[in-house]
Amino acid sequence: MSESPVIEINKLNKWYGQFHVLHDIDLTVKRGEKIVICGPSGSGKSTLIRCINRLEVHQEGDIIVDGITLNDDLKNIDQVRQETGMVFQHFNLFPHLTVLENCTLAPIWVKKMPKDEAEKMALEYLDRVQIKEHSHKYPGQMSGGQQQRVAIARSLCMNPRIMLFDEPTSALDPEMIKEVLDVMVELAKEGMTMICVTHEMGFAKTVADRVIFMDEGEIIEENEPHEFFDNPQSDRTKLFLSQIL
Ligand code: ADP
Ligand code: MG
Repeated sequence: MSESPVIEINKLNKWYGQFHVLHDIDLTVKRGEKIVICGPSGSGKSTLIRCINRLEVHQEGDIIVDGITLNDDLKNIDQVRQETGMVFQHFNLFPHLTVLENCTLAPIWVKKMPKDEAEKMALEYLDRVQIKEHSHKYPGQMSGGQQQRVAIARSLCMNPRIMLFDEPTSALDPEMIKEVLDVMVELAKEGMTMICVTHEMGFAKTVADRVIFMDEGEIIEENEPHEFFDNPQSDRTKLFLSQIL
């Protein structure tokens, strides 16, 4: 883990219209660090990680990703989007494209990679998530767990330096959660910088360097996982943990 931060967020404030959704968020993430964010529904977790790749704009404060400041400069936004992979709750695969085409689309069109090279790379990533033999299928022909593993492989095909996960297992049937978490654990072991919104506390305990608890648009508490779970400080954290554990 190097000392230079890969994500630096200072005094971030965001509003949706009149609604003040994020309050004075400060967050620094070092290269290789794994952060788990948890908190009640509506606390601003998705909004926060969507700000990091500018799927949402913020109004106040600074977000600096790998030295690039997120502002209205479209060049910066493009650059940050190429460096950050994002995996969503509902997979967001293109239904009319095969698994392989889902994975090669951005490398071919955004990175201008030759098609055969993109396919070779995609098959390597699909192999790593154990989906290679399904590469000709369409998303609708696969289980949720398989689709989510494709979504992870698709992100990795852009060679991101940071991976953002927004509740990647919360739409899955219980028996499929492990196969997705296993892929995420592998990625973590390989040294990927990761921010994961998840309530999978087993995952948080194994993988996270820090767990962050958000409520009503604020970071209420953060700690290394052992302390966070065994010795929560705030009443709001205690209440939340009592509801999910
Ligand atoms: P979480 O991911 O923790 O459930 P979100 O970031 O999705 O929370 O939402 C935080 C709050 O912002 C919620 O009250 C939600 O209703 C509101 N919100 C989210 N997206 C929008 C939007 N596009 N426009 C207006 N309000 C939104
Ligand atoms: Mg959310």
